[in-house]
Amino acid sequence: MKKILVLNSGSSSLKYQLFETDGSAFRVIIKGLAERIGIDNSNISYQTENGTKETMNIPLENHEITLKAIFDILLKTSLSSIDELWAVGHRLGHGGEYFDKSVVIDDNVIEKIYETKDLLPLHGNAFILGIEAMKNLLPNIKQIATFDSAFHQTMPKEAYLYALPLEQYEKYRIRRYGFHGTSHYYVSKELLKIMPSAKKIISCHLGSGSSITAIKNGKSIDTSFGFAASCGVTMGTRCGDIDAFIPLYIMKTQNKTADEVNQMMNKESGLCALSGGYSDTRDIEKRYNEGDEKAIVAVNIYVHNIVKYIGAYTAEMGGVDAIIFTAGIGENSSFLRQKICDRLKFMGLDINQDANQLRSQFVELSTKDSKIKAFVIPTNEELVIAQDTYELCANA
Ligand code: ADP
Repeated sequence: MKKILVLNSGSSSLKYQLFETDGSAFRVIIKGLAERIGIDNSNISYQTENGTKETMNIPLENHEITLKAIFDILLKTSLSSIDELWAVGHRLGHGGEYFDKSVVIDDNVIEKIYETKDLLPLHGNAFILGIEAMKNLLPNIKQIATFDSAFHQTMPKEAYLYALPLEQYEKYRIRRYGFHGTSHYYVSKELLKIMPSAKKIISCHLGSGSSITAIKNGKSIDTSFGFAASCGVTMGTRCGDIDAFIPLYIMKTQNKTADEVNQMMNKESGLCALSGGYSDTRDIEKRYNEGDEKAIVAVNIYVHNIVKYIGAYTAEMGGVDAIIFTAGIGENSSFLRQKICDRLKFMGLDINQDANQLRSQFVELSTKDSKIKAFVIPTNEELVIAQDTYELCANA
């Protein structure tokens, strides 16, 4: 049995999961989260597979100290020695055009990751912090990188190239990259296991960040995230698609800096702005049902934009066989799924009301006679990372 640690590093947070595997079955032994790294009141928590939970308030000055704290937790609960760790898999946001699949991390890969870090203005080099910290603590352990953009590297030029002067792409690599790739890949692969005839799939990853992907013959051919992860559908606090001239106009006429507009578009917009301060769809649903005007407008805009993308991708693929809902909202919100599916009745989508009441489980929403199939498929990005880590390390 091999033990694989999966890490998802943010600038001030670090999520971790420890898997045990024989290469075919993957079991999560423990998982947890460190928050407020480098800030005051930091804490670290874990939950073991038998349900033991603990949260500790301890200072976590940086990612290396945080990793040491994670090691302490693993030693206390799951490992007799850190040497039992066989490999580490990291989630990385951006692989630029260099990576279309997961890779073993070496100096050349680290150099390329550094080259692409400026392409993610929001997250900067947060992802690399976990890799560097792990290298310092366990220099000989095998490390693997899985990129959120990799699955979308199959998009054709007409989907990824913007109509800007070509130099912007050729010299500065400005293009559509797309993110949430690991999630779209996972849920589409799960669907294909039970519906191998699904040649045209639309995957809706709807969480606090959301993206929609058109998947033809198992490959991403278009996606709603672009150069950055703030365009596309309306999100919790991100604006989604807006006229590209709006930020320029705001900067010019309201004397705001690029950072201020960035903050506005990513943290102060979306459902939160429209609903008067609520970014969680549970709150918005409640207010909608109470007749709150702003919540009603927020829900209508949210549904409108998702339906627009589903329509566009159906046209791009020349039809759609199945629609997948995943992530926090996609897996849990019967309310929003119903509203989206109602608007797709014209395409022949008919959903079963009882099935739509279920949450957080793999379920077919569509009825037997529905022309288009719809499913809820819980995502599992960590499992993909653990599986890729196993494959790459076993064959290294
Ligand atoms: P991310 O990983 O992007 O932070 P998630 O995929 O975890 O986001 O989604 C979080 C969002 O999912 C929450 O903000 C909330 O809007 C929505 N959500 C979570 N649970 C439920 C639920 N039971 N009912 C409706 N919406 C939910």
